[in-house]
Amino acid sequence: MPSKKWNAAAVKRSHVVAAAKFYRNEGTYAPFHDARSYYVVVGHALYPVKAISSKAHENATGISLKPSDFGGAKNGVWHQRLHELNFQIVEKGSKGELDVAVRRSLKGSREKRLKRLATAAGRVVKMVDVRVTRFVRNPDVVAERLYLSKGKCWRCKKDAPFRRLRDNEPYLEVHHVRPLSNGGTDTLDNTVALCPNCHALIHDELRLELEVE
Ligand SMILES: [Zn+2]
Ligand SMILES: [Zn+2]
Repeated sequence: MPSKKWNAAAVKRSHVVAAAKFYRNEGTYAPFHDARSYYVVVGHALYPVKAISSKAHENATGISLKPSDFGGAKNGVWHQRLHELNFQIVEKGSKGELDVAVRRSLKGSREKRLKRLATAAGRVVKMVDVRVTRFVRNPDVVAERLYLSKGKCWRCKKDAPFRRLRDNEPYLEVHHVRPLSNGGTDTLDNTVALCPNCHALIHDELRLELEVE
């Protein structure tokens, strides 16, 4: 297995940032193509995970990895390492990718944005083959957390803002303190019940933590 020559632990944040700079300047990192599935967020921009991982590994160890060295990317060693280094990984076509791209557009020149808009076709790309990560969560954890919440948001301590039409129960969302995507467990002690406002705020904070200037 090619994994023998991998030394993911040698890769530090600075190697990843340098790899992103290289990629931005060169526009590519042969023989890697644009990301088919995943991007890593570095300084408000999106870079293909495999190309960046390979270049970062080369920066750290002198050994570059070929595309064939990357097996099932998701949950693989590189996604894990980038997460450990606090980089955000977003899936192509996901809300996360859109959020990053929107911020980038807002930070950039409006003149250029209007130029792009003038020639934008207005059609959306429909991605049929998106591999979406879904976690099959334990309904008992959700139910017990909702029960324990007594209808109050853990963060703002206020009552749920409305009741669900379906069953007239207080509308709260069960949030994982350590995200499941980052190794968090689907257990009661890793959950809190939040009102939709606080839930959105906490995820906004999480995204901010993952961003690099
Ligand atoms: Zn709240
Ligand atoms: Zn959440």
